[in-house]
Amino acid sequence: MHTFRDLETAAYCPRKLYYRRRAGPPDVPDEVAACRSLAFEYERLLADDAALVAAPVEVSPTTFRSRIGSAKARLDRWPELADPPERERTLTGREARGVAHKVLHDPLAPSLVFAGRPPEEGVWEPQTVRLVAAAKALAWEHETAVERAFAEYPAYGVVRVVPLTTRRKAAYRKAVRTAASVDGPPARTDDDAKCAPCEFREQCGVRTRSLRSLLGS
Ligand code: SF4
Repeated sequence: MHTFRDLETAAYCPRKLYYRRRAGPPDVPDEVAACRSLAFEYERLLADDAALVAAPVEVSPTTFRSRIGSAKARLDRWPELADPPERERTLTGREARGVAHKVLHDPLAPSLVFAGRPPEEGVWEPQTVRLVAAAKALAWEHETAVERAFAEYPAYGVVRVVPLTTRRKAAYRKAVRTAASVDGPPARTDDDAKCAPCEFREQCGVRTRSLRSLLGS
């Protein structure tokens, strides 16, 4: 059975999944854990100026308050997102297992918290795959349909609804097929932007653009 993370990685770069499997599960860095904890403190951060200034937030306090205030007004599920009925729940589906950082109950929906920067709109494609995997596993456990997931980027004050569209489900199915087919090292991605932050680039033999320019090639 795949993990949610494996499927996310397969959608990012199949070769990265190959290296990650050989390296074993990574530890969660302290800064990622600190960022994720922000997603459980929205109301406190809105109410406490000093706490917000001290928090690992990547935008100004004004922007954070404005964005979270907007999410609070826009999202009918805000009370459950701010104070979730279930936290850090391990889900096991038909094809994948992993952790949903929050599970909302009425109706059922998973929410995943991401430490990085959000795209201008929607969610990054590999994160879409992880969200669909969590929603499908939740649906499988409860034998019911799950139509939406939530993506949270708390360091940027961004919370988004992610409907499980046909396109997103297709991306998930493709990632499942890719993860199942990886045994030897697949070809490198041709997207340099993905390699720059990849922790396996040395093993992979990829020189990032900045290194190439330093070397004058
Ligand atoms: S360095 Fe690039 S090609 Fe190599 S594993 Fe990482 S993302 Fe994939």
